[in-house]
Amino acid sequence: MAVSAELLARRQAAVVRGVSNATPVFAERALNSEVWDVDGKRYVDFAGGIAVLNTGHCHPHVIGAVREQLDRFTHTCFQVLPYEPYVELAERLNALAPIHGPLKSIFLTTGAEATENAIKIARAATGRSGVIAFTGGFHGRTALASAMTGKVVPYKQNFGLPMPGILHAPFPVAGGRVTVEDTLHYINLIFKADIDASHVAAIVIEPVQGEGGFHQAPPELMRGLRRLCDENGIVLIADEVQTGFGRTGKMFAMEHYDVQADVICVAKSLAGGMPLSGVVGRAAIMDAAEPGGLGGTYAGHPLACAAALAVLDVFEREDLLKRANVLGQRLRTAIDRFARANALVPISAARGPGAMIAFDVYKQRGSDEPDPEMTKLITRRAHENGLILLSCGTTASTIRILVPLTASDAIIDEGLGILERCLAA
Ligand code: PMP
Repeated sequence: MAVSAELLARRQAAVVRGVSNATPVFAERALNSEVWDVDGKRYVDFAGGIAVLNTGHCHPHVIGAVREQLDRFTHTCFQVLPYEPYVELAERLNALAPIHGPLKSIFLTTGAEATENAIKIARAATGRSGVIAFTGGFHGRTALASAMTGKVVPYKQNFGLPMPGILHAPFPVAGGRVTVEDTLHYINLIFKADIDASHVAAIVIEPVQGEGGFHQAPPELMRGLRRLCDENGIVLIADEVQTGFGRTGKMFAMEHYDVQADVICVAKSLAGGMPLSGVVGRAAIMDAAEPGGLGGTYAGHPLACAAALAVLDVFEREDLLKRANVLGQRLRTAIDRFARANALVPISAARGPGAMIAFDVYKQRGSDEPDPEMTKLITRRAHENGLILLSCGTTASTIRILVPLTASDAIIDEGLGILERCLAA
């Protein structure tokens, strides 16, 4: 019996069903954009641990920085005995974030903690509690974060009523039925029907919806939200947990817009595989919470802060923003070619900025009816053929590519070759 199969049986007996696994194999080791399972099989990794490994698995500079910190100390708790890597990371994040004026940061551990803390901060700053989020949005699985997540199944299923005060406006998807005007009109309806604008603390939006299917918020939407926030004293929060750290070809996806958020949530690729998230924003807003109201035992862990500082170095040294755009173009060209090929499964053209690339799988050529079964089959075939590939989207029929930005052209082409074979049904 293969080692993975044995482990899978143990996993099924010992670990809950509620946590799902995209593949039935167990990881043994990984390097840059390659992974090996416990049975010795090699995979090209187009998932990057769900957008965490923009600098690749085990980048030597990141590992070196973690090792150095490991030799000094692993934990003091920032609230008990602070340490310099946390402060230095805040300084660097404040300097990088696309928001004018003095900024301040806080570090946490997970993406959900980042979005929850951004809301707590916005509530403290405004003295209000309402939140507007978007259909198809994903902000995490904890109680407040899952209330903001704009998808019931599976995130809110069987978990009781979501936290009150969180309302969803329809997200405009290019080519879909909802326009930007519809979305802005709907938010004004929410202000009339559900909650007065003067009770809304924050509007939270992913500049490019990640789990929702790699749909980018149109510039007019971001401008309209900025205007609504300015007119009504609402905090605009950009959830850049998945888009952040170079994935879209800019350090932050908000740099694609001519308006700014007040607060930005970061996580995932921030620390190249170590658990770290953060919230950065206007100092006046960020300082609203009272001392002791924010934080966490492991929040801003020293090993993770050391890793994040190294990740920022790697971005500079290896010019990864430029690489994201070049690599993204390579993916886009190939996927658009697959979309035109009659012999392959019908798919949409590639979409998404920089290297945040996805495409939809359709039931028939010429229609845009989603095909979640075929999508599942393609990701399964990919895994069988040595490619780790993830789906996403509100209809589970989008395939997304989150390959490390450090991957070589040869590895990208190898992965695309496997993908093409998987599409040849
Ligand atoms: N926000 C966004 C945009 C995300 O993509 C995710 C994770 N997929 C989260 C929040 C939650 O992050 P975590 O799973 O680390 O809590």
